[in-house]
Amino acid sequence: MIDSCNSSDDGSDSSRDYEAEFKYIEKRFPNAEFCVSIDVSKLKEYLTDEKEIIIKQQFSCGCYLRYDDMFLDNNTHLRPPNNYFIIKNDNMTIENILDELIKQKMTTDCDHHFLEGFEKETDIQWGLCFGS
Ligand SMILES: [Zn+2]
Repeated sequence: MIDSCNSSDDGSDSSRDYEAEFKYIEKRFPNAEFCVSIDVSKLKEYLTDEKEIIIKQQFSCGCYLRYDDMFLDNNTHLRPPNNYFIIKNDNMTIENILDELIKQKMTTDCDHHFLEGFEKETDIQWGLCFGS
């Protein structure tokens, strides 16, 4: 787990026990190289009935320049090509998908390492939604 995972909560929302959720997530996914920022209550929900799906990781945030951007300097990175993860599981729950992404070493290189959810793109493909 990367160090900055615990930094986003300013404590202003008292309706949920974010600290307890964070601790649970930390224990549940000790080897994650990204921050799981998904409601604990949603982890056991099924994303789909499919047994094999594709998860797409797109580097679309402002941390990366598009290949056609003109102003490159040492602080910017060219946008890498998309990553695709093939997920095979009889029970395509959110937590099983996360386990599989962790096993396949899914990681993020920029400030947007809070995985907030999945966005359906086709019947068998979902994109990853990251926040900072
Ligand atoms: Zn970013």
